[in-house]
Amino acid sequence: MPPPLRASAGEAESLETGLVLAGLDALRQISGDEVMRRILGQATAAQRPQTDESGRVPIVDYLHYRNTAVEVLGDKFQVIAFETGRTLVRNLRHPKVDEIRNLVERMADNPNKLFLIGQAAVLAARHNPGVVRAAFKPDGVLAITIEACPECRGLERKTPFCFLNQGVIVEFAERYLDARVHTEETRCMAQGDPVCQTEVALEG
Ligand SMILES: [Zn+2]
Repeated sequence: MPPPLRASAGEAESLETGLVLAGLDALRQISGDEVMRRILGQATAAQRPQTDESGRVPIVDYLHYRNTAVEVLGDKFQVIAFETGRTLVRNLRHPKVDEIRNLVERMADNPNKLFLIGQAAVLAARHNPGVVRAAFKPDGVLAITIEACPECRGLERKTPFCFLNQGVIVEFAERYLDARVHTEETRCMAQGDPVCQTEVALEG
């Protein structure tokens, strides 16, 4: 049996624990129990997650789950990663979530929802791995750049790889701002670019 990963009720999760849990949820939804158990079994057989009593999973263990999932799922990993991002926004219990709620309330009068998405992305990344910046391109599209991106750390891919952050952005826009957005990763460190960059545009 894999060790329990869920933090006890009422406790904040570490972001990494939240990620692993959201990833397993998304995996179960899309690929079913069997594939989920296989990946969990493979990941924990090679290396037991180092949880402490609060259920914290360090980033190296998250990356370990990621690598196992990439191996087993191939390109389907991207669909799971996107859904993982959405699930994370829905389920995460973390002080960061309250900070972001406060930001949305403070900026409720600002009609520019893309601006708010950029500010929320910068706030979400503060004190977490990866350095995030948000800027507008001349055509009005929001460009979010991530230096030292934790999502594609250590990977080499032919196509952009970072779908988790796109899932986070799409779900955040829907859930917090009642907005539908389109996202596209235009630069990715996994492809050899110096930073990852995700462009965000309002739909319709
Ligand atoms: Zn990337």
